[in-house]
Amino acid sequence: MRLVLLGPPGTGKGTQGKMLEKELKIPHLSTGDILRETVKKSTFLAKKMAKYLKRGELVPDETVAEIIKKRLKKNVVSGFILDGFPRNISQAEILDNFLKEKGICLDRVIYLEAKEKILIKRLKDRRICFNCQAVFHLKSSPPQRDLICDYCNGRLTQRDDDKEETIKRRFHEYQEKTKSLIDYYRKKKILVKISADGDKQTVLKRILREVKYG
Ligand code: AMP
Repeated sequence: MRLVLLGPPGTGKGTQGKMLEKELKIPHLSTGDILRETVKKSTFLAKKMAKYLKRGELVPDETVAEIIKKRLKKNVVSGFILDGFPRNISQAEILDNFLKEKGICLDRVIYLEAKEKILIKRLKDRRICFNCQAVFHLKSSPPQRDLICDYCNGRLTQRDDDKEETIKRRFHEYQEKTKSLIDYYRKKKILVKISADGDKQTVLKRILREVKYG
């Protein structure tokens, strides 16, 4: 199964990606997670990319495409769940060509959808573990101990790009660049629209129903 998770910020692509990885036993590849790990390093490339992430802007296509191709090489046969890639038409074409060279294609693109008002609320309350990237929400799924990760005891922090100003820019980037992928994949007849409104188990069930029996 080769899946892409698509949708505006805050729809739970990362959360669902991790749960789907366990359910379907295929790796979840998140460009956001990979980039956040990369910018922790003190290389020239890391510093350059950190600026884009902090501003909530897209990192240049060539950089992300290289990262994702490297990871995909190991996983194309067994399957994968892509989260955060592609994010514009040019990246979608890079992905198509890469898969075509291997003689394969995407099975489904899961488009997660919810009202912007709900998503902004979710993003503001989101905290992630600095160490293992586990995701918590202060109201809907708080950690057992204040700002301590339940899984690895790491420190929970707010992502720089989950601050109000940057959230607005990320939505703008989504509207400008990513939203056009909905039509792109609809035309290919692999787009599945799923409501991301509800708790994470409910959304997971909706996705599994589609990918297993749809
Ligand atoms: P995410 O965790 O998916 O919300 O991504 C966080 C940030 O990483 C985005 O706001 C971008 O700065 C960067 N990023 C993630 N995926 C991509 C991509 N496919 N292309 C360009 N930038 C990306």
